[in-house]
Amino acid sequence: MGKVTERKEQCNICPHACIFTEKHPLGRCRVRGLGNPGYGMCAALAVDPIEKKPIKDFHRGATVLSTGPNGCNLTCLNCQNWHISQQKSTAVQFISPANLAAIAMEKSEGLAFTYTEPTIWYEYIMDTAPLVRKKNGIVIMVSNGYVNREPLRDLITVTDAWNIDLKAWSNEFYRKICGGDLRTVKNSIEMVAASDCHLELTWLLIPGHNDDPCQITDAAKWIKATTGENTPLHVSRYFPMYRMNIPATPVPLVNRTVELFREYLKNVYSGNV
Ligand code: SF4
Repeated sequence: MGKVTERKEQCNICPHACIFTEKHPLGRCRVRGLGNPGYGMCAALAVDPIEKKPIKDFHRGATVLSTGPNGCNLTCLNCQNWHISQQKSTAVQFISPANLAAIAMEKSEGLAFTYTEPTIWYEYIMDTAPLVRKKNGIVIMVSNGYVNREPLRDLITVTDAWNIDLKAWSNEFYRKICGGDLRTVKNSIEMVAASDCHLELTWLLIPGHNDDPCQITDAAKWIKATTGENTPLHVSRYFPMYRMNIPATPVPLVNRTVELFREYLKNVYSGNV
C-alpha cells in the first residue's frame, strides 16, 4: 500500500505565510485555510456613512454597506472590534458575491470591506467588488495594511478608496502590540498611494505607546514625502478595549498630536473625540 501524503497548502496573502494541513487546517487569521472556509462568511452587516470608515475626502455624504470576515491577521491588544476579529464564536452568515453586491446597491452607494481585516478575504473581494463597480457603486477597503505585494496589487485594481492604519512609527510597537511589522504596512501605503485609488490614513493614538513627538514628526515627514501633504490623516482617540486597559486618550493629547501632524500635512482630522 502506498504512503498517503498529507494535503498541505501555503497562504501567500500576508507575511505570516501560514501552512494549512489536515491537522492544522486554519491560518493565524482563522479566516483562511484548507478549502477557504471564510469565503463569503460575513460577521457583520450594516449601512454606514462613508465618514464613519473613516473616509472624509471621497464621495462625501455617501452611505456604504459595510461587512467583514470573522478574523484578522493581526492581534492588536487594543482591538476595537475584538469581538469579531479575535473570537471564534461569532455568528457568521454566507452571502454570495452577487447577493452582497445587490444588497449594497439596493441600500447604499457602494460597499465597504471593514470591521476586521479585509485583505484576508482576497478571493471574495476579487469576486464581489467588480459586481458592485459594474452597477456604478464604490468599493472601499479599511485595512491594517499587513498584506503582501502581489495580492495587494490585485486588490487595488478592483477597489476605489482605502483607509490604512498607520498604528505607530515603531517596529517594536507592531511586533509587541499587534503581531506584525511596520515595513509591510509602509510598503502597502506606498503602493496604494501610487495607484489610482483614493487613500486616507488612520493613527489610533494610545497614551505612552505611540504618542512620542519625535516619532510623530518622523511619521509626518514620511507621509508628506511618500503620499503627499494632502493625504487625509485621522488621529483617532483610543478607548480601553480587549487586552489593553490603560485609560482613554485625553482629548488635549489628541489635539496636540493633530497640531504636530499639521506641521507637515494639510488634512489632519481628530476622531472619536
Ligand atoms: S492571511 Fe491568514 S492564513 Fe494567510 S498568511 Fe496571513 S494569517 Fe496566515
